[in-house]
Amino acid sequence: MTALMPDRIAALISQDGPIPVEQFMMLVLTDPEDGYYTQSDPIGARGDFITAPEISQMFGELIGLWAVDSWQRQGSPGRFHLVELGPGHGTLMADALRAAQIVPAFGEALNLHLVEASPTLRERQIETIGLPLIHHDTIASLPGDAPLIVVANEFFDALPVRQFQHTPKGWMERMVDLDRALGSLGLPQPSRRFRFVLAPEPVADPVATLGERIRHAPMGAIAELARAAEAIMEELATRIAAQGGAGLFIDYGAAQSGLGDTLQAVRKHKRHDVLDEPGTADLTVHVDFERLGAVARACGVLSFPAIDQGSFLTTLGIDSRANRLMREASAKQAEAIAAGRHRLVDPEQMGTLFKAFGIAHADIGSLAGLPMPEEN
Ligand code: SAH
Repeated sequence: MTALMPDRIAALISQDGPIPVEQFMMLVLTDPEDGYYTQSDPIGARGDFITAPEISQMFGELIGLWAVDSWQRQGSPGRFHLVELGPGHGTLMADALRAAQIVPAFGEALNLHLVEASPTLRERQIETIGLPLIHHDTIASLPGDAPLIVVANEFFDALPVRQFQHTPKGWMERMVDLDRALGSLGLPQPSRRFRFVLAPEPVADPVATLGERIRHAPMGAIAELARAAEAIMEELATRIAAQGGAGLFIDYGAAQSGLGDTLQAVRKHKRHDVLDEPGTADLTVHVDFERLGAVARACGVLSFPAIDQGSFLTTLGIDSRANRLMREASAKQAEAIAAGRHRLVDPEQMGTLFKAFGIAHADIGSLAGLPMPEEN
């Protein structure tokens, strides 16, 4: 799969010295040659992790209805762009478009755009969705001529972050270095090829870089800075302010900005050491929705505070949808439908860790399933 990645990182560090966590994440996940997402299909029972649309068709269906509702709140434009960021297998979009068929004018007005880094997953998306669509490497090439309705599930958590640690010398950037620890035969220990170190110099103006949240941080605390996520939110919000439309972003993370090291690796559905055999496990971070909301509002759109996925799906009607599906199902299917609903909504499962967060053009005013917009 991506066996070359550890060697490439090691060569890079030997040559240039320790690399920031952000660069490490970016290389591991989306390097065009050997990146985790570019090389493999990590989603599903045989992969490394499972996502909400793969758990239950109701997830994508409700998002489809959310998109129809948002389009209607925008005045049912005769032409608009439906965009998904990081669509994985394309399951969410396929389920969403099927549910949206109840309003044929929505389907007639839409152009479908998928932003996807992975060639393997692009093929999968074309197969699953089976409708004309345009793939984009980044959001920069999305058209500028009509409203955008944007959805994303577990996309922002895959974007790289910088990490900083509070030390007696100040806030120092966290880097990845070679670990020169030797095993009993005097050879480097393969499982300990890398280690975290701190940059030699502290950040000059930490509050300006990392925000007010660090003012009373204890020694040892870690703060993350998601520049890639913020840049994408800034561009989307600017586009929506100018073109109209709305965005719905579901991911795991905190409704309020905080501190802490949220970088984690998952391989074959189990937690994995972040630095062990990089490229063979998924890397994610928690999304800071409070920060993304502030970034969006600064670009002139409304932002809606992040709420628990469980509450969001319940407000959108997952219970009645489940009951309806169960009426037409065999006993075994009914059990699977109930189990899927439970997994998406239950606070012990995905219900509270995952959050739904929205942005919208000021004319839209409110969005289905989300709280009232935040004040500036
Ligand atoms: N939304 C899907 C997949 C989530 S996994 C689901 O819920 O099942 C993350 C997705 O984002 C994958 O499709 C991955 O290839 C894509 N991705 C990750 N980083 C990306 C980037 N920088 N640009 C574009 N796509 C990216």
